Parts: sequence; structure tokens; C-alpha cells
Amino acid sequence: MPDNAQQFASDNYSGICPEAWQAMAEANQGHQRAYGDDDWTARAADHFRSLFETDCDVFFAFNGTAANSLALASLCQSYHSVICSETAHVETDECGAPEFFSNGSKLLTARSEQGKLTPASIREIALKRKDIHFPKPRVVTLTQATEVGTVYRPEEIQAISQTCDELSLNLHMDGARFSNACAFLGCTPAELTWKAGVDVLCFGGTKNGMAVGEAILFFNRELAEDFDYRCKQAGQLASKMRYLSAPWVGILQDDAWLHYANHANHCAKLLAKLVQDVPGVSLMFPVEANGVFLQMSEPAIAALTTRGWRFYTFIGAGGARFMCSWDTEEARVRQLAADIRQVMKT
Ligand SMILES: *Cc1c(COP(=O)(O)O)cnc(C)c1O
Repeated sequence: MPDNAQQFASDNYSGICPEAWQAMAEANQGHQRAYGDDDWTARAADHFRSLFETDCDVFFAFNGTAANSLALASLCQSYHSVICSETAHVETDECGAPEFFSNGSKLLTARSEQGKLTPASIREIALKRKDIHFPKPRVVTLTQATEVGTVYRPEEIQAISQTCDELSLNLHMDGARFSNACAFLGCTPAELTWKAGVDVLCFGGTKNGMAVGEAILFFNRELAEDFDYRCKQAGQLASKMRYLSAPWVGILQDDAWLHYANHANHCAKLLAKLVQDVPGVSLMFPVEANGVFLQMSEPAIAALTTRGWRFYTFIGAGGARFMCSWDTEEARVRQLAADIRQVMKT
């Protein structure tokens, strides 16, 4: 297998989509004002406002860890706490950055079902302690689509938001794969965010065809106060901002973001379908977005690795995660499925 063959370890193994690349090339003409005062950044922000059908405040960061951490920090004080699922990226994959950038706001992990928080699991944590010795819950963060490839329905988000209102909690959404969630549900971005009560969304670009970059959208604009300073202090204000913002124009203007997310989801469905009758293989979670989580034998996982396939196995013994991307080729999905079938025979 060549070194640059398509893999399924993560959707960030893929390169840059033509629309993003083209927009970067167009942005690479002449001089433009720096630090986000350029035309491309204004255009990208306008595209977000029209896509989300609301006058939100828009910021750009280099990656998801920064976007999540800075957004969460802006929603609470250092003595507050953030409720997240036990599988949340902010908890397991951000090296303590949310705590670091908030100067110590503690993450409290709640029970989740198929990667999702529920009003009950949020209540359980939020109401556990009310005394001065415990960090006061102030934020709930959801991941859409979740880390295990499931997708919150609008009514699930609304129910969580109602719980947040009752408990005076702000609602943040880690949307590293927000596009895949929109594609799966066929909902508008507005229906899955501010219309359902989300205060702030971190909208991922990297995993859906961009080189780098996440957008941070504040629907509750009061919470965005001084957020520009927060980004600058954290080293997240790009001086040549146009190269972070132009690719967003590229993928938003003709709905490439949705088209690619649909494609990635479709490939995941295809993979799941092709292996569904393989003896000994079972789906660990419903396939809703662009990930497929398979329970397979340990020897089969080892044999698949020997054949050159790259994938993550961080989900307990015998679990393998396969992520599809904007450019995943169906032929490659079929090869993978055929190899899974082969190795399960050994
Ligand atoms: C990839 C990902 C992020 C962002 O990760 P970075 O590597 O910091 O860009 C955030 N949340 C989830 C759920 C992710 O999968």
C-alpha cells in the first residue's frame, strides 16, 4: 500500500478540497489588511450569518482545541465548571487546554448514552453538590456529531437547552463534525444551534476539506465580549487571517461543506453495509455521521494493521474506529471491507 493511500484513521488524514484550495489561491492576490480586517474575513463572516440565518459574532482559530477551550473560557469564570460527556474531546483529547485557558474551570464528566448527554445526566452532575466547596456548574458542552458517530436530534438539543435554562447553564457545541450532523439530519444549521438554544458553536473546517481552521460562532453575542482579546492572547489571531477565512468562503458559498459531509456520511454507511454480514463483526454504535465503530477480534485488528490499514482502537478492547472523509473513494471503502472480511476468517 503506498504511503499516501487513503486511510480511515481520521477524517483529518485527508487533504484540502478544491473549493478551499481555489479560494486560498484567489486570496493570494496582492496585499490585504492584516489581523482579520480584510475582505475575505468579512465575506466569510457574512456567509456564516446568512447560512445560520442570524446576526452572530464570528471568530476564527487555527484548530479545534483552541476554539473549544477559548469558547468555554468565555462562558465561565475560573471557579465554575463545565459539564461534558465522559467521551468528550474536551475531556479526553485536549491535554487540559479547556482548564488551562479558563484558568482552572473544572470539567465534570457526565454519563452519556451512545456519546450523548441527556437532561437527566446533566441534572445528576449539576445538582450533585450546591455548596461553596464544589466548582459551580456554569456550562454544558455537547459534541455534534458525537465522538462515537451519533447525532443529537434537534429535540434532544432543545431538551438539554431547557435543562440548561432551568439550571442557569450556558450551552456550547463542539461542532468538529457539525457538517456531518447537518447532512445526516437534513436540518438547517440554525435548527441545530441557536433555534435549539445553543449559545456558542465551534464549527470545524479541518475535518471537512480545509487545511486548518475552525470558526467560533456566538449566537449569544453578549458572551463574545472581549473574545478577540482572548484569541490574541492565546496566540490564535492569525496575522494573515485571509488564509484562514478564504477557504470558508470557498466551502460555504456553493454548499460544498454539505455536499462533502453527505459524501463522507454515505461512505460510512457503505462500509457498515459491506461488513454487516461478516461473522464476528458487529457495529458498536449506530452509523449516523461519517464514522463506523466495529467490534472485531484482536487478531483480526492486528492482521488488518499488518495489511497496511490505519485506524484507531481507543474504544476499548476489540473496538476499531473507521472515519470517512470528504474525498474517501468508494473503491477504497470496498477494499477495506473486503480485507475486514478476509482477516475475520483467520
Ligand atoms: C478533531 C476534533 C476536534 C479538534 O481537534 P484539533 O486537533 O484540536 O483540531 C474537536 N472536537 C472533536 C470531537 C474532534 O473530533
